[in-house]
Amino acid sequence: MNFLSELTGSFSIPCADNPTVAMVEAAYQHHGLDWRYINCEVPPEHLADAVRGAVAMGWRGFNCSLPHKVSVIQYLDDMGESASIMEAVNCVVIDEGKLTGQNTDGKGFVESLQERTDPAGKHMVIIGAGGAARAIGVETALTGASRITIVNRSSERGQKLAALLNEKTSATATFRQWDGPISIPEDVQIVVNATSIGLGDPDEQLDLDWDSVRSDLVMADVIPNPPKTHFVREAGERGCIVIDGLGMLVNQGVIGVKFWTGHDVDPAVMRAKLEEIFGV
Ligand code: NDP
Repeated sequence: MNFLSELTGSFSIPCADNPTVAMVEAAYQHHGLDWRYINCEVPPEHLADAVRGAVAMGWRGFNCSLPHKVSVIQYLDDMGESASIMEAVNCVVIDEGKLTGQNTDGKGFVESLQERTDPAGKHMVIIGAGGAARAIGVETALTGASRITIVNRSSERGQKLAALLNEKTSATATFRQWDGPISIPEDVQIVVNATSIGLGDPDEQLDLDWDSVRSDLVMADVIPNPPKTHFVREAGERGCIVIDGLGMLVNQGVIGVKFWTGHDVDPAVMRAKLEEIFGV
C-alpha cells in the first residue's frame, strides 16, 4: 500500500481560469500515475516561500506562469539551453533538491509544428514579440529555422527579439514594423500569430493582407481559447495547413510531464480534456 502521491503543480496569479491542472490530471489518471497537480495562487512576494515549500514537501516540479517566469530564475540551480537564452522559465524540475528551469512553451510549439512541417531551413514570420513570440522564435531557431522575420506593433520589443535571435542562435532575424496590413513574402513557409489578438474573442482579427496568404503556407496560432480564432478559420478556408493554439498548450504539458515523471503521456487525452472545457 502507498498513500503518498508524487506532487507537481503551478504557481501564478491570477490562476483560477488556468485549465492546465485539468489537462495534466487527465493524463495522470489515464496512465494510472499516482501523481497530483495542484494549481496554486502565488503572489510575487510569496514566490520564494512557495519554491522553498515545494522543495520542503518533496514536490517533483512545478509550472510557473505570469508573473513569475523571470523572477523564479533567482531560485534555480540550473537552466535548460532555450530557457537561459529566453531568460524565462515556465517549468521547474526538482531532482533531489536541485532545481532546473526549462521553457516548454517554445518546445510545445515546435512539437506541434513538427507534426505538420520541419522548420529546419525555413523562413518564418512571427507576428508579435512578447513572451510567446520569444519562446517560439528561440526554440524554432534552435531547431534549425534559417530566417525569422519578427513583425510587431511596438518597434522596441520587436527589435529586441530580432537582436536576441541574431546574437544567440544561428538564425538570421529581421524586424518589420507592423504599421499596415502585413503582406506575407513569397519565400516564407510558416506564419505564426504570437500576439494576444483573438484571446477570448473569436472575431478579433489581425491586420493581415489575406490575399498574400498562399495555400501552401503553414499558419499557426498560439491562442488556446477559443481555439477556432478568426486567424485559424480564415487560414483553413484558404486551404492552408493550420495549427491551433491547443497544440502548443497540450505539447508543453506533455513535455513538462515527461520532465517530471519520465513518462510519455498521450497528447490526445490532454487535448480531449481541453476541448471538453472549451466546448469545442
Ligand atoms: P505579451 O503580453 O508578452 O505579448 C503580447 C504581444 O501581442 C505583443 O507582441 C503585443 O504587441 C501584441 N499585441 C497585443 N495586442 C495587440 C494589438 N491589438 N495589436 C497589435 N499587437 C498586439 O503576451 P504573451 O506573449 O505572453 O502571450 C501572447 C498570447 O500567447 C496570449 O494570448 C497567450 O494566451 C498565448 N500563449 C499561448 C500559449 C499556448 O500554449 N497556446 C503559451 C503562451 C502564451 P506590442 O509589443 O506592440 O504591445
